[in-house]
Amino acid sequence: MAHFLPYPEPPEPPLPPPRSINASRKSALLVENDSSLLHIFRRSLKDEGYTVRTAANSKEGLRLYRDFAPFNLVLIDYFVPQSKEVEIDLLAELQTNGTALATAIRETNPSQGMVIAALDYRNAGEVPRPRELMHIPVLVAIRQLRSLLEKIEVDRAIEALTPSELLRLQRSADFRVQGLGRAARGRTGEDLLQEAELRTLIGAEDTQKGRHWNKDVDIERHLTEAMRSISNCWKRQFKEMEAYLMSDFLIHDAEEQEHSPLDNVASGHKAADQRLIEKDEEERVLSKFKDDPEATQVLHGLLDGLKKNEIMSKYGLGEKQYAAAVKRIRVTLLGPRNGGGGKTKNMTDKRNYGDPLEKLMNQLAESVLGLSDAAILAETSEAGADPEQEAERTRSVLRRASEVLENVNGRLSNLGHTINSNGWYRGRSGYHSTCVACGSFVSFTTATGEMRGEALDGLCPESDQYTIRRLEASRE
Ligand SMILES: [Zn+2]
Repeated sequence: MAHFLPYPEPPEPPLPPPRSINASRKSALLVENDSSLLHIFRRSLKDEGYTVRTAANSKEGLRLYRDFAPFNLVLIDYFVPQSKEVEIDLLAELQTNGTALATAIRETNPSQGMVIAALDYRNAGEVPRPRELMHIPVLVAIRQLRSLLEKIEVDRAIEALTPSELLRLQRSADFRVQGLGRAARGRTGEDLLQEAELRTLIGAEDTQKGRHWNKDVDIERHLTEAMRSISNCWKRQFKEMEAYLMSDFLIHDAEEQEHSPLDNVASGHKAADQRLIEKDEEERVLSKFKDDPEATQVLHGLLDGLKKNEIMSKYGLGEKQYAAAVKRIRVTLLGPRNGGGGKTKNMTDKRNYGDPLEKLMNQLAESVLGLSDAAILAETSEAGADPEQEAERTRSVLRRASEVLENVNGRLSNLGHTINSNGWYRGRSGYHSTCVACGSFVSFTTATGEMRGEALDGLCPESDQYTIRRLEASRE
């Protein structure tokens, strides 16, 4: 059974059984002639769960590729020896046999996950390669291999998500963020989804930093677990921030008799007022169902924290009636997403959601995950959206997060900086880290993809001492 990191919330209803396509054996093609490196790479790949085919030159590599593609990963040494049958333009000085092979494979399958190993270089920026290969990760130190593999696997899993899986993820994310109310602080379901993916890409086993993807669990399930823990974390941070603002306000007020711009925040926090506002919100939600007695009953039950069976027996509802009522609640509360590729602004930003409403929204988020493929497609149409379009939009949201990280890593790698893949920390305004070699700082935000920090100003002054040269690797 899968092991998940603990999250600070009462047990949730079980998820549907994994529809795993990711748990199958992963395959790699390794094109390497240096016997020491061959040994090291093969061992690393096997440790990561790959079955490995090997070729000692680019001709053999291309033959294996044509016979056995696709592979989860193709790892090619930049200086792999020449081959008669792969045509190499000797006048094109950017081409090596390694890049020629990579180019040939890319022409066969543009989305084939590949890594080029160029251990003789200090940084990826120094490695001459044709323009069409610029986005393919270049390995200049063996220690980077693991995070490159993780990214390739996550990208592959995201491309393999079906429309129903994407829709369940998105709707579930939307409900979770809705349940946060003001604690969402302007963030949307898309933000939550991207955050879950980024933490997976970063891959450390820590909720503050990353979240390791146990490949026995499919990516849909992994991301929903990650979203659960991230939204809890956002809630916790918000409460801490409000407590801080409130104490600040009280001191200010007592000593200086001033009115702070935080007045409203603070006054909204007096327990009695707060509860009244929350009650208003509950009434507002209930009022949407005043002509739907069964949905109203189910809502009352969920707001009172009752379980499904308790609600069914309390109001004498059958299984089908219950499911239909929950569906009407979902469709009414979330409605169609505002299509068009932009970020949908979370309309509940300013709302003071108390625990009952938050729990209700979380229950709805969970109920989405239990829907069959046909049911989520039908429900999306019923909410007024085109399921295929919605699903693809969600996929592009996920792609964007991956691209942001790829850009940051590519840029740092070109400059020779070494960032541990699990060395990213989530701060208030984005992720930040420091180069382990020179200590310079770098940060990026997911929303805009913007990068900052002195690490981007120039080449890493210390890159030499941290890079494992081919010679050193050969001595292992
Ligand atoms: Zn550096």
